[in-house]
Amino acid sequence: PPAEETGGPGLLGRLFKGGDAAAPRRVLDDEMLEQLEELLITADMGVDTALRVTANIAEGRYGRRVSTEEIKRLLAEEIARIMEPVARPMPLYQKRPQVVLVVGVNGSGKTTTIGKLASQFRAAGKTVVIAAGDTFRAAAVEQLQVWGDRAGVPVLTAPEGSDPASLAFDAMTKAEADGADLLMIDTAGRLQNRADLMEELAKIVRVIRKKDPDAPHNTLLVLDATTGQNALSQVETFKSMADVSGLVMTKLDGTARGGVLVALADKFGLPIHAIGVGEQIDDLAPFDPEDFAAALTG
Ligand code: GDP
Repeated sequence: PPAEETGGPGLLGRLFKGGDAAAPRRVLDDEMLEQLEELLITADMGVDTALRVTANIAEGRYGRRVSTEEIKRLLAEEIARIMEPVARPMPLYQKRPQVVLVVGVNGSGKTTTIGKLASQFRAAGKTVVIAAGDTFRAAAVEQLQVWGDRAGVPVLTAPEGSDPASLAFDAMTKAEADGADLLMIDTAGRLQNRADLMEELAKIVRVIRKKDPDAPHNTLLVLDATTGQNALSQVETFKSMADVSGLVMTKLDGTARGGVLVALADKFGLPIHAIGVGEQIDDLAPFDPEDFAAALTG
């Protein structure tokens, strides 16, 4: 979108007509508060969050003249405060293998994220096994193998159309036999067949629990940050199908500034374990609330 629509370099460009950062001042009145609210809603932060953040900013400042810098700083502080509790890396357990079930809709970046995570764990000295659980998409399996090769991690596959749960079981057996630290299980993301997908995920969980009653130790939901408000309904959906324990937000390198992360944090409070910042293997970063807030406010 053109710069004017998104507020230039950050959210506040529009509010202060994009002028010199320090110079413009405005009276913090109802009109400005409404504009600020609208700006935050447009940025996907969600209505409730937008109202609350705006109210917090107004408190003790109503009727005063404020500068862009001041509003920007206050907004960044509010956002960082909301995000701080969810900025948590994926917990690692002593359990071997630690089972990480990876869920999300097709195209969200599951495959890429599994590859990036595998590479990071390998770099940290962990042994990793990947199971290509989306057995219905041959292309997905191939793509995962490419990522496995890049990360130097074995990828277990099964013939197209075969039962993902039995692949998951075999993968558990192999990961145990190899003494692997982590087993990452990719899953299908066909939301068109919600009931099927739900049954499929439930069966995978049932089967791996035969090997380890505590598994999966993590259920990561991968979300494309550029889908805006859609991410919220994806969380609802996957939470109803699986015991989602944390999020990875992908494609935060693009034009989307990821305002929806604020709405997600506010609504669900699920930890954000990592963010995808590009298509390469090293493009996975820890989520830093202050950097994020600074980037969002511009
Ligand atoms: P899956 O269908 O969920 O497994 O999604 P993929 O991992 O195949 O990713 C879908 C597309 O998104 C691919 O073109 C990836 O290169 C791209 N992608 C994944 N993560 C990121 C990211 O963090 N940034 C960018 N720019 N692209 C990403």
